[in-house]
Amino acid sequence: MLFYSTNNPSTTADLKTAVLKGLAPDKGLYMPQEIPVLPQSFWQSIPGMSMAQIGFEMLKPYFCPDIPEDRFMAMLEDAFNFDVPVVKVTDNISALELFHGPTLAFKDVGARFLARVMSYFADFGGKPINVLAATSGDTGSAVANGFLGVDNVYVHILYPSGLVSHLQELQFTTLGQNITAYEVSGVFDDCQRMVKEAFMDANLNAQKVLTSANSINLARFLPQSVYYAYALSQIDPKLWNKLMISVPSGNFGDITAGLVAYRMGMPVKRFIAAVNANRVFTDYLQTGVYKPTPSKSTLANAMDVGDPSNFARVNNLFGNSAAEMRKVIVSDSYTDEQIGKTIAEVKAQTGYTCDPHGAVGYAALKDLMQDDEYGIFLETAHPAKFIDTVERFTGSKVEIPARLARFAQGKKQSIAIKADYHNILGSLK
Ligand SMILES: *Cc1c(COP(=O)(O)O)cnc(C)c1O
Repeated sequence: MLFYSTNNPSTTADLKTAVLKGLAPDKGLYMPQEIPVLPQSFWQSIPGMSMAQIGFEMLKPYFCPDIPEDRFMAMLEDAFNFDVPVVKVTDNISALELFHGPTLAFKDVGARFLARVMSYFADFGGKPINVLAATSGDTGSAVANGFLGVDNVYVHILYPSGLVSHLQELQFTTLGQNITAYEVSGVFDDCQRMVKEAFMDANLNAQKVLTSANSINLARFLPQSVYYAYALSQIDPKLWNKLMISVPSGNFGDITAGLVAYRMGMPVKRFIAAVNANRVFTDYLQTGVYKPTPSKSTLANAMDVGDPSNFARVNNLFGNSAAEMRKVIVSDSYTDEQIGKTIAEVKAQTGYTCDPHGAVGYAALKDLMQDDEYGIFLETAHPAKFIDTVERFTGSKVEIPARLARFAQGKKQSIAIKADYHNILGSLK
């Protein structure tokens, strides 16, 4: 299949180009040229299937035969190697827990899948791939852990010295193997500039394969459509057509994946785009006018986005029509005060511990669900990642999972450099 740019449908690329470039040359985002509708018989057969088996059927149209089917299945089994359970919270609300991966957040799913797709193209083209990533914290850990130990792909993380949290730093500096961390004397913008300069160095790019693993890559968002179907497979099929799925949203990659599944015929009723005080999308649905704003910081900080990058994809799916979008998506926005109150109430009333992002999803279900509907909210991060906030509002201790605690025992290994991209060239493969 070919992929086209959201800026111009006649700008197309094959899978390998779209994955290695990330962004189209006209700065648009890549979308599949065709979104096939899978037959009823497929959806009826998902209960009992593994996430990899569901993923194979849903993603094959986009990734095969560019990647041979047997290799593709092996990649899926390897990428989806942790549980994604639906956990009951109240009589009509459940959580889809996406935090059982290595860095305890849903971004592990996309990062692990993308790593394996890139590794296939490195094998196939014979040249090692260098992934450059500037991070202010979380992206670095998801990318580094997603790519850890993957053949022929080398990850270079650039982060501002002293400006990421200690635990975040340990999540990408203690790994070794194919992961190199550079501690840059500068701020995040310096790191980002260095990566951009490396990508613009024609001489360097003629010798080495350089790529990014950022969240707009189509091989990061598409695999996320699989866990929506996997969620359905775990609940009573009688609930499917009453199902409202609430997605805590920031850059809107996650909900785009859900909407792609919907387009493929996934039998659910509708979606909620649940946002924090950054309400540009909520306002757009109401008014039909898209007004990006500077981002505001909130308790659900992975969603502090004032101009969601995947808005272009959502818009594209609905032919740039707010009216069409309103038939499938509703949206609401929550303040920090409401997020805190929700974390406290859910704990007190049900015993379930939400993280601040999941709390936004839960609050939106409570407000927007009708009586005959059933709700699932995406629990996008483990509460231990936001332990101070969660403990403050619940008044009880959050247990830190062993895989998070383990990072704290690792030994930090990073290369201290000045803020000039020439300093990383020596370590590129
Ligand atoms: C990235 C992130 C989100 C937002 O996801 P988008 O795909 O950017 O909308 C929500 N919750 C957590 C914990 C995240 O890390």
